[in-house]
Amino acid sequence: MSEQQHEDRAGRRPTDRRRTPAGEDRAPAREDAAPAAPPGVPSPSAAAPPGAPADGRRVVVVGAGMAGVQTAVALRDQGFTGPVLLLGAEPHQPYDRPPLSKAYLLGKAEGAAFEVDFDSLDVQLRLGVEVTGLRPGDHEVDTEAGPVPYDVLVIATGAVPLTLPGTEGVPGVHLLRTLDDAERLRPVLAGRHDVVVVGAGWIGAEFATAAREAGCAVTVVEAADRPLAGALPAEAAEPMAAWYEEGGVRLLTGARVERVEPGRVVLADGRELPAGAVVVGIGARPATGWLRDSGVALGPDGTVVADDHLRTSVPDVYAVGDCASFPSARYGSRLHVHHWDNALQGPRTVAAAVVGAESRPYDPVPYFWSEQFGRFVQYAGDHTSADTAVRRGDPSGPAWAFVWLRDGAPVAVLAVGRPRDLAQGRRLIEAATPVDPALVADPEVPLKAAVRA
Ligand SMILES: Cc1cc2nc3c(=O)[nH]c(=O)nc-3n(C[C@H](O)[C@H](O)[C@H](O)COP(=O)(O)OP(=O)(O)OC[C@H]3O[C@@H](n4cnc5c(N)ncnc54)[C@H](O)[C@@H]3O)c2cc1C
Repeated sequence: MSEQQHEDRAGRRPTDRRRTPAGEDRAPAREDAAPAAPPGVPSPSAAAPPGAPADGRRVVVVGAGMAGVQTAVALRDQGFTGPVLLLGAEPHQPYDRPPLSKAYLLGKAEGAAFEVDFDSLDVQLRLGVEVTGLRPGDHEVDTEAGPVPYDVLVIATGAVPLTLPGTEGVPGVHLLRTLDDAERLRPVLAGRHDVVVVGAGWIGAEFATAAREAGCAVTVVEAADRPLAGALPAEAAEPMAAWYEEGGVRLLTGARVERVEPGRVVLADGRELPAGAVVVGIGARPATGWLRDSGVALGPDGTVVADDHLRTSVPDVYAVGDCASFPSARYGSRLHVHHWDNALQGPRTVAAAVVGAESRPYDPVPYFWSEQFGRFVQYAGDHTSADTAVRRGDPSGPAWAFVWLRDGAPVAVLAVGRPRDLAQGRRLIEAATPVDPALVADPEVPLKAAVRA
């Protein structure tokens, strides 16, 4: 599905998408959602009243990705009048990552920068500055250029991709997380190289889709027995294996990379794959190494352990986006959501806590989307606590869905080419509405009509 189609479906003007890093038009989770105010522009109702005393506290946000930028925007939107400083390690104007594995990679989009006017928001932006440590006792973070004081600190440093051991420094081996990564991969696609993708996850599938579209020969090597093994249950992920073949991509499951040499990948079973380029998409880890010894509690997976208002274990310090986990009462577990919608929603909770506004605990129904092999894939919720999986439609066809239930109510929905199922399913999840599984299983019955009488 092209981005243009998304825009048309959501009825937005293309300019809205660019101005709105949120791009809810690109992620049409709610079929009847009213257009949100562009996040770059504070809504008049939320702005501080004229003449209100300026808040003397200085907020420092570390990380100028989606979550960091949205935090700055949300602070202004919710009337925070004090100084806001956004520190980012990358030298580029803050940008959105989803286009990097889609239109930008193919040269169909020239930039991915957020259209946020930092000057008019009175947000100070310092780019190319890596924060190396946090000293809560002094209320300071450290950078190569010296310490930076804060009254309130927001950690939004996202994640860094995992590398394949032994491949660091091997020519032709790529990761795909940053604008610079995508910049390096564009000539690979334009040159129609033979490409080996390691990992059949979200990034691997989207990169393989783009590389095929560009005319590359693509082989995807996956250690598990199916794509997306870490993200989706077998019943939903297994049908996706056929998409690779259909898209002209060779998918090797149960295959382990032994080593990568210039020009080829050698598998553990001895097979050799010619590789003009290798793209490693085997996951990411939170970019929280700089917090070691700071006193900020980190989980075993390296995420900042935040509470239900995204406060960390250290006073005046918050964490949001891909780098943080939070407790979910809805799911009865701690969630680490590393998707774009979480980097949009979380900052609103952080801003509310900073300005002292009443706010509900952060307990979203997580949402993400993916565009692969000509399909629009959407997922909402968390299936791990489900006791029942209900299939809607034929997974060998172009449009189908799965709904996972716990105690008779939906907890997660996966929709392939069925955005209405996603939107309606998400509302049922939010309200924990009991449904009739027989009606859910009938793709002709709208999900909202499957509510148990
Ligand atoms: C190629 C790609 C495609 C994607 N496509 C989709 C999609 O289709 N759908 C979807 O739902 N999600 C998608 N995602 C996921 C989504 O983009 C992320 O969830 C989102 O970017 C997270 O935002 P963040 O601000 O938490 O982290 P990031 O975007 O990683 O931003 C963190 C920023 O902090 C900076 N930083 C890190 N450490 C430091 C430090 N010590 N000092 C200063 N700055 C630092 C980093 O340089 C980075 O710029 C995609 C991700 C990628 C990489």
